[in-house]
Amino acid sequence: MAAKLLEVSGLEVQFDTSSGPVRAVRGVSFDIAEGEVLALVGESGCGKSTTALSILRLVPRPGEITGGRIVFDGVNLLDLDECSMTQYRGKQISMIFQNPLVALNPVYRSGFQVQEAVMLDKVPPDRAWRAALNVLKQVRLPDPEDRARSYPHELSGGMRQRVMIGMMISRFPRLLIADEPTTALDVTIQAQILDLLDDLRHEKRMSLLIITHDLGVVADIADRVGVMYAGALVETGDVTEVFEKPLHPYTQLLLKALPRGPKNELRLESIPGGVPNLSNLPPGCPFHPRCQRRLDICSKVEPETLEIHPGRTVRCHLVGGESFWKR
Ligand code: SF4
Repeated sequence: MAAKLLEVSGLEVQFDTSSGPVRAVRGVSFDIAEGEVLALVGESGCGKSTTALSILRLVPRPGEITGGRIVFDGVNLLDLDECSMTQYRGKQISMIFQNPLVALNPVYRSGFQVQEAVMLDKVPPDRAWRAALNVLKQVRLPDPEDRARSYPHELSGGMRQRVMIGMMISRFPRLLIADEPTTALDVTIQAQILDLLDDLRHEKRMSLLIITHDLGVVADIADRVGVMYAGALVETGDVTEVFEKPLHPYTQLLLKALPRGPKNELRLESIPGGVPNLSNLPPGCPFHPRCQRRLDICSKVEPETLEIHPGRTVRCHLVGGESFWKR
């Protein structure tokens, strides 16, 4: 079994707003082994991007990490000062974003932006330029020598995403965080980018944390999945196990909303209601107003996280009772 590279435990993130404190991340725990791909999935506003930003300690103000541990390769990142954190941020842990047009600098040529990243490791400019071209080839940018001289606005969305992935892998990170890496792309380019990420993690033994709202992306690339709702992880497990036997009613509904089967035979389910306001969560289980399987207790007591077996957890009153274990 591969060694654990990242262990997040009991992570709490709070935003102090004019209407009071908002707990955006509530007691989130997960780990990622070397070379493993974990996907965090859930609707917008469920806390998955904030969880990802916490790993790099980049939660924007007025947000603050108020509890928990983020242990990377044996070091609790929350204990480090800012200077020590730069040894990890962008070097050992990199992050790619949903919209590369925002993340790339519009006034610099794409090759220069990769070269600049390589030079952060004190590589001389000529060697860094050759390394940048090599990286652009690795991320399968068409005509890399020509495209390296293009500005971001002269590239297609897929090419820009390849340049950004190139920038982020150019310093050989051990963990790559990809926040909705394919959302802005059309379906064929989306598949190519997922293939590229999958190949890179095998070639470089890199671990991946994918943040997505799309279970199709999870099925394509992830080894394990964590389902988030209202700032908490409500179900985790091996992708095959969760897809074949989802235990949490929210996961079950997400899977029913996933397009499968031949065109014209599709009948997609939608999840009734909307995501709760994190500043005013309902009492008990935050999913209870939308849950068709709720029990009396659900509106009064929030369920604890239950470990079914190592790596498989669920947070729901339906799971764990005597009848569940006798199934
Ligand atoms: Fe539904 Fe209750 Fe489970 Fe929440 S705890 S998901 S309301 S059954």
